[in-house]
Amino acid sequence: MHFSRRDIVAGAALLGLAAPLPAFARQTSAKRTPAKTGDPDVIILGAGISGLNAAWLLEQQGLKVVVLEARHRVGGRVLTLFDQPGYPEMGFNSMAAGYGRGIDAAKRAGVELVDVSPRYTVDPTQQLLLSGQSIARADWATSPLNPLPAALKSKMPWEVVPGLFMQNPRFPDWTDWINATPALDISVQQFLSAQGLSDAAIRLVFDTAPYAGTNAYDAAALNYDFNYGWIKTQMQGGAQSFGVKGGNQKLTDAMRGLIKGDVLLGKEVVGIETGKDSASVTCRDGTVYRGGRVLSSLPFSTLRNVHLTPALTGAQAKAVMTLNYQPLSIAFLTVEQPYWEADKLPVSMWTDGPLGTVLAQRYGATIAEVTGLSLFARGRLAQYWDRLGKDAVLKLVVDELARVRPASKGLVTGAAFHSWGNEVFNGGDWSYFSPGQVSSFGQAMSVSSGRLHFCGEHTATTNRGLEGALESSERAVLEIIAA
Ligand SMILES: Cc1cc2nc3c(=O)[nH]c(=O)nc-3n(C[C@H](O)[C@H](O)[C@H](O)COP(=O)(O)OP(=O)(O)OC[C@H]3O[C@@H](n4cnc5c(N)ncnc54)[C@H](O)[C@@H]3O)c2cc1C
Repeated sequence: MHFSRRDIVAGAALLGLAAPLPAFARQTSAKRTPAKTGDPDVIILGAGISGLNAAWLLEQQGLKVVVLEARHRVGGRVLTLFDQPGYPEMGFNSMAAGYGRGIDAAKRAGVELVDVSPRYTVDPTQQLLLSGQSIARADWATSPLNPLPAALKSKMPWEVVPGLFMQNPRFPDWTDWINATPALDISVQQFLSAQGLSDAAIRLVFDTAPYAGTNAYDAAALNYDFNYGWIKTQMQGGAQSFGVKGGNQKLTDAMRGLIKGDVLLGKEVVGIETGKDSASVTCRDGTVYRGGRVLSSLPFSTLRNVHLTPALTGAQAKAVMTLNYQPLSIAFLTVEQPYWEADKLPVSMWTDGPLGTVLAQRYGATIAEVTGLSLFARGRLAQYWDRLGKDAVLKLVVDELARVRPASKGLVTGAAFHSWGNEVFNGGDWSYFSPGQVSSFGQAMSVSSGRLHFCGEHTATTNRGLEGALESSERAVLEIIAA
């Protein structure tokens, strides 16, 4: 079943995030069907933001929950490095002013949001470095390395894909992306070719640092119809963005504190069995939990390793077994002295080499202070870094930075490395579709299977990122209380 945007909005209002409706709660608690007295009504799998939010919402409706989390921490893809200067974020970074659910969750959890937008605007530009050559914006249009068609020559490589998708919407209402026919379910390669880009231009503007996919053949254009349609809508809410004071992970830690039921860590789920009247979940440590229903927030990259009885079938089985997850790895470097003041080049960089994208972190007392550099490798570069491993990556990027920015020599230290692709309980950054996948199984992804329900960012259809994860938990909770 596909929920429209209207259903979701109505659902959020119905749940009354700040003030649950007593009559509604009475009605739903009458429907409790735990296997045995004392068993939870719902066993929630995963304590990322969607699992935690679902747990809280269900409790507001009078249901008893238990949350099983494989890691020894909550938060999932919300991950702050509290042991590094400035507390850099390895996962969820910031929420826009239009994140109604995210802002509400922060208020409810009692964490303070701070406006982090100046961090992103303080650097006027980033250095473009192609084949080791630094190219200033003023010289880019006439550079022999510029493969763009005449109409786009003056656009910097990172501006081309967002611009083309935002200016050429393929749907009158972008939220219809999920209902796309096979004819619209094409690759980014096809979409960009149709906009007049050569193969060389596509390799540069897309494959160098893809947001979704490893290259333009492998990524469906629908990922981008959804993403940029949503971003456009978010921009209507204002240009501010917010992070949690002291580190984003404080949000999920505080959300855990709101849940009355058990949130159990170190509980890797390996089996789910659902029957006519009850359900059970088996963990790798041999423990078995019984309850009325199961709500899985597990990314499909990990759900596919769980034994399901009965097994999923058809489009839904295909979705769980084949949905892609984005390779993304991050290196964090500390800097002893501001070498950019010596070489007079921008701190942040966009490169087609092993450095990936270099982003100045301004997480100190003032935004003037650079607290470190985060280097992002996406797609094929992330896969290459992951094969090298932490120590070799940190050496590679520090040496490469010294080569292309000699002023940095001896002033930069490799401090931390995080690979989302290598994380057993994620297997990648976020989910993405290959061409043909949305039209094949998009609508089947969140449909409940008997007493097994699904949430998580991969099942959201009208919001992305953290807001999408929260949207998905509302949809799943509505489904459970209506069942
Ligand atoms: C680098 C990065 C940057 C991001 N930046 C932003 C941003 O700026 N803005 C934004 O809105 N969003 C951003 N996001 C996305 C956002 O963080 C995610 O969409 C959101 O956190 C996903 O929440 P979730 O609950 O769906 O999944 P998860 O957080 O992945 O939760 C799933 C949970 O299930 C657990 N699990 C997995 N397998 C098992 C198992 N077998 N048994 C038990 N538990 C299991 C996992 O450990 C995890 O805790 C970013 C993500 C990343 C990685």
